[in-house]
Amino acid sequence: MIVFLCSKCGTTITPELAELAAVPDVSDNEHDRDKETRRAPSSVPRGHYVIDPEPWGPLYAVQDDQETPKPANARGPVVSHGEVFVISAGTRHTVLVHPDDAADLQPLPNGENSRGCCGPTGDEGLNRACTCGAPVATLAADCFGPYELHLDPVRTYAFSQ
Ligand SMILES: [Zn+2]
Ligand SMILES: [Zn+2]
Repeated sequence: MIVFLCSKCGTTITPELAELAAVPDVSDNEHDRDKETRRAPSSVPRGHYVIDPEPWGPLYAVQDDQETPKPANARGPVVSHGEVFVISAGTRHTVLVHPDDAADLQPLPNGENSRGCCGPTGDEGLNRACTCGAPVATLAADCFGPYELHLDPVRTYAFSQ
């Protein structure tokens, strides 16, 4: 079992979590979404974590193949900036957890990086802070794309008891 803590202040961010064997796919079935919040079911069940090998969030690079673009983030939609399709060249090895397993994290001041339709898209960069104020994670919780929290692999650390 692993606990995740804030690298800046050492505060515990999650309860004890067990590692999943594989990164879960994101459901693209509209019927799975919550009728009120429009969120998908959380990618990761409560009490678990998994390390995402794919890059997540900014910076973004222009995709080589503009004819058949891939999603900007492996777990999200196709995105164009201006007229060109982009792909994440962001942080690899973020730690995916159920958002309710890091319930003390707070939005950044002025909703920084939390733009979205029904919730933050999570593709703008870190948008959730530790109680000490240090940005440590990115919440994705919009009416398209996944519902999951990405803990930054540098701004948080794992401790096994
Ligand atoms: Zn902290
Ligand atoms: Zn929406």
